[in-house]
Amino acid sequence: MAIQNAWLLRTLRDVPADAETAGHQLMLRAGLIRQTAAGMYAYMPLGLRVLRKLEAIVREEMERAGAQELLLPALQPAELWRQSGRYDVYGPELMTMTDRHNRSFVLGPTHEEAITSVMNGVINSYRQLPLTFFQIQVKFRDEMRPRSGLLRGREFLMKDAYSFHSDWDGLKRTYAVMYKAYCRIFNRCGLNYRAVMADAGAMGGDGDNHEFIALADIGEDTIAVCNSCQFAANVEKLQESLDEGTADQSETCPSCEQGKLEYCKGIEVGHTFQLGDKYSHSLGATVPGAHGRESELIMGCYGIGLSRLLATIVEQHHDQRGIIWPSAVAPYQVHMTIIAVKNEVQMKLAHQLYDRLAEVGIETLLDDRDERAGVKLHDAELIGIPIRIVVGKNADEHRVEYSERSSETKEVVHVEKALELLL
Ligand code: ATP
Ligand code: MG
Ligand code: MG
Ligand code: MG
Repeated sequence: MAIQNAWLLRTLRDVPADAETAGHQLMLRAGLIRQTAAGMYAYMPLGLRVLRKLEAIVREEMERAGAQELLLPALQPAELWRQSGRYDVYGPELMTMTDRHNRSFVLGPTHEEAITSVMNGVINSYRQLPLTFFQIQVKFRDEMRPRSGLLRGREFLMKDAYSFHSDWDGLKRTYAVMYKAYCRIFNRCGLNYRAVMADAGAMGGDGDNHEFIALADIGEDTIAVCNSCQFAANVEKLQESLDEGTADQSETCPSCEQGKLEYCKGIEVGHTFQLGDKYSHSLGATVPGAHGRESELIMGCYGIGLSRLLATIVEQHHDQRGIIWPSAVAPYQVHMTIIAVKNEVQMKLAHQLYDRLAEVGIETLLDDRDERAGVKLHDAELIGIPIRIVVGKNADEHRVEYSERSSETKEVVHVEKALELLL
């Protein structure tokens, strides 16, 4: 059977002029995404495969943490946003529209209002609590400066979760579980990140909140980390505990008062909030308590920018020649290149190997294009799939070249040995 995945290899030789970060350039050059309008992108098949891997990791960890998946509409009645008071807080970042009956809608930038209004009718006893729900869905924000491809889009993919409790103790317990789930997610994605105390911004709420910041020089956030205790905070938050104008330069840790603060740049990939009754209060979401008295639901919310996470992984994992995917999120595990597609021995051996890999569930991208060998090997470096197999001049001895994208060593091995190495 003909294998059709080589057409995925629509790489760009030149660096796109308007792509400012290394990650954005690589994502365009490797053919993961294509821009359709400012801050809007099509996920091409290779990019979508990575996104699906991220979704699978996030789903697994959310379910492990006791959250159940649902899906809310992207369009929300503007009236709900007026009730919560956020119609004005979000201001021009909110994308709005009217239907044929002249009713106003908001294209959801986040879903606190929507979930609160749904759950108000569903949760009818404190005995059902705690409950946590999550969804994976597009969000819309009319960002002033869409930037660096998927890092700051106007339409982007988010995993957002919401927890419901009868009291703050319950919220704190679930919050701790979600915090751990976030650490597991970012560890599994191979990210170098820090969890820091943060400012609640437009989400509001009166409890703690944390941002998960992936370290990167091109990041828009600045964090301060103590070199002696556990203290770590976004400078926006640090500013609250310091005198006006000193965050960014302050040397001494405000928590232990001994350690030195170190500053670094990063990308916000996740944000978790203890909202309390902010939304249940404004939207009137209550539940009858133990003594029959109605009390407002206590809530938490937890977001991860999945499309931003994809772009962040590329920012952290590349070299001069291209992307170096962490195995857990790679679009394919193996990139097999046939040097001379007109050579029947090479073709036959490559297809046999491909079929055997498929049988054991190893995802393989087969480059059987009639192109120069140099072009194909160059593309394999750029796309960055973890294991490379080159079927070339040693094919008549059933031998192939085997190498890892993350290392410089190559070896020529028998196909049986190559299979052994992969299993
Ligand atoms: P930022 O400070 O970068 O504008 P935010 O604080 O406004 O982000 P939240 O409201 O906390 O974002 O949303 C949860 C998550 O959604 C963020 O941690 C981030 O990963 C992601 N996110 C937010 N805005 C965007 C965007 N424009 N494009 C892609 N991902 C985004
Ligand atoms: Mg924002
Ligand atoms: Mg932020
Ligand atoms: Mg945030």
